[in-house]
Amino acid sequence: MKKVFAAFSALVLMCSTCASCARTDYLEERSHYAFGTVITAKIWGNPDSAADAAEKCFDELDRLDAVFSANSEKSELSRLNANAFAAAFPVSDELFYVIKTSLEYCSLSDGALDISLGRLVKLWAIGTENERVPAESEISPLLAADYTQIELDEESKTVHFLNEYVQIDLGAVAKGYAGDRMLEILSGCDVTGAVISLGGNIVAFGSKPDGGAFTIGVADPTSPSTLIATVDVSSGAVVTSGDYQRYFEENGARYHHILDAATGRPSESGIAGVTIICESSFEADCLSTAVFVLGKEKGLRLLAGTGAEAVIIERNGAVSTTPGISNCSYNYLGGTA
Ligand code: AMP
Ligand code: MG
Repeated sequence: MKKVFAAFSALVLMCSTCASCARTDYLEERSHYAFGTVITAKIWGNPDSAADAAEKCFDELDRLDAVFSANSEKSELSRLNANAFAAAFPVSDELFYVIKTSLEYCSLSDGALDISLGRLVKLWAIGTENERVPAESEISPLLAADYTQIELDEESKTVHFLNEYVQIDLGAVAKGYAGDRMLEILSGCDVTGAVISLGGNIVAFGSKPDGGAFTIGVADPTSPSTLIATVDVSSGAVVTSGDYQRYFEENGARYHHILDAATGRPSESGIAGVTIICESSFEADCLSTAVFVLGKEKGLRLLAGTGAEAVIIERNGAVSTTPGISNCSYNYLGGTA
């Protein structure tokens, strides 16, 4: 009897193991802290592969954080910032690629995206315990820095700062690059679908268990826990830059984290939030910050030359979209503004 029971239990165990192998609708939900923000991952597939994919994604995020962080003194970026004015400084292929691609968007956006304003970012320190409104005398010397003073050498993979005030900050783009790396990792894992949220950056991979696309919400900047619209994405990115994501208030004024390199102060383009939908999360992140600073009209003109779609929400509550937004099954839900 014992033997029969043992054989039966083994069979049950085998069946349940096989069943779990065959399952592709299992949902692994995890969270992780990297890039100064909470990262959440939902990954569908069989249980082992989904858990393995989550581990691989989080390990990669930790690795990337150690390259791109402007806050850790040990990061490769911090070492570059400490040395690249004195002489051309050699960097990894990966950091070189991210800086080079970002500079292309700095140029395309005529400096609305400007990765050279690290000193201004540190001066305002928005989102940290040191955040404050700096005196104009502290801001004005730093306006001497701009992205054209970052010189790259493709052969030697070196970066050289031509102005002592230049410091690279990749806060506007690094999570975007990381999102593309997540998509690469997921495509090498045996999973059917995933949604990973890195702060305001969301990447979707594959499809839902029912085969459909993922529906991603666009927050209402005046009430960020409320959705103003949704878009559908299968594999790609939905990236938002918003004045509600990181800010402090003083004397009734809001000081948010997206700076205008021309003034050295939080951008006042009239945009409260811009969401970019496109295949590449890196491109979406570059564009989201650029469009935020450019404002609606110039922003839409910039977007017209790309394959990206966008939802732009102005401070007065007006919502504008790119002409091709219906390709993303755009659904306007209405706002509170
Ligand atoms: P995002 O949320 O992608 O728009 O990026 C905002 C972050 O990028 C800030 O927290 C800063 O670290 C950095 N940043 C702020 N203003 C700019 C700008 N005009 N160009 C490039 N990076 C910026
Ligand atoms: Mg960005």
